[in-house]
Amino acid sequence: MRVLLVEDDVMIGEAIQGALKDASYAADWVRNGATALATLAGQHYDLVLLDLGLPGKDGLEVLGSLRARDNPVPLLIITARDGLDDRLRGLDGGADDYVPKPFEMAELLARMRAVLRRKGGSAAPVLGNGVISLDPATKEARVKDGAPVLLSHREFSLLQALLVRPGAILSRGELEDRIYGWGEEVESNAVEYLIHALRRKLGSETIKNVRGVGWMVSKNA
Ligand code: CA
Repeated sequence: MRVLLVEDDVMIGEAIQGALKDASYAADWVRNGATALATLAGQHYDLVLLDLGLPGKDGLEVLGSLRARDNPVPLLIITARDGLDDRLRGLDGGADDYVPKPFEMAELLARMRAVLRRKGGSAAPVLGNGVISLDPATKEARVKDGAPVLLSHREFSLLQALLVRPGAILSRGELEDRIYGWGEEVESNAVEYLIHALRRKLGSETIKNVRGVGWMVSKNA
């Protein structure tokens, strides 16, 4: 899952970006509204974390421009402005949730999972296709009712990208986009290497290759 963090405070931005990476997100960070809009116009993100008090274009303007362009990306407002009026303007302006600063990172991560779940059209906290299941809260994967399997951050990210939409084929580029943030070097065979590692842990049939197109997990397997 790839997240865009829009935050002008360097200390807060570094802390959140670090926590997102520890939680297996590919996390890109921009510090003003204009850069946020330009970035979102050119790159797929699974979720945006948006501060309201930003230099230049403020967060509510960014949100307004984004929704006016019909960009449906899930979005959480994170801000110290905790007046009722700002909260209402944010939510009515198209934000999916609102987390007032200061917050515990664990709560922000749980709210992100909840928004992603709702936007994905699922009430169930665990992703799965009938064979493999993956719990985004604990990062545990299972095959059928087997023992939990431990995954690396990137193995988790790749499996999550596939399990969000079982049956959908994702190309190498689409998988790389969801696994790697800016400045993270992508080795040319990184995706193959991760798929190989996941098959070794979960069984060779769990992830299917569609030659020349990409990879998928079966739907209703
Ligand atoms: Ca700010």
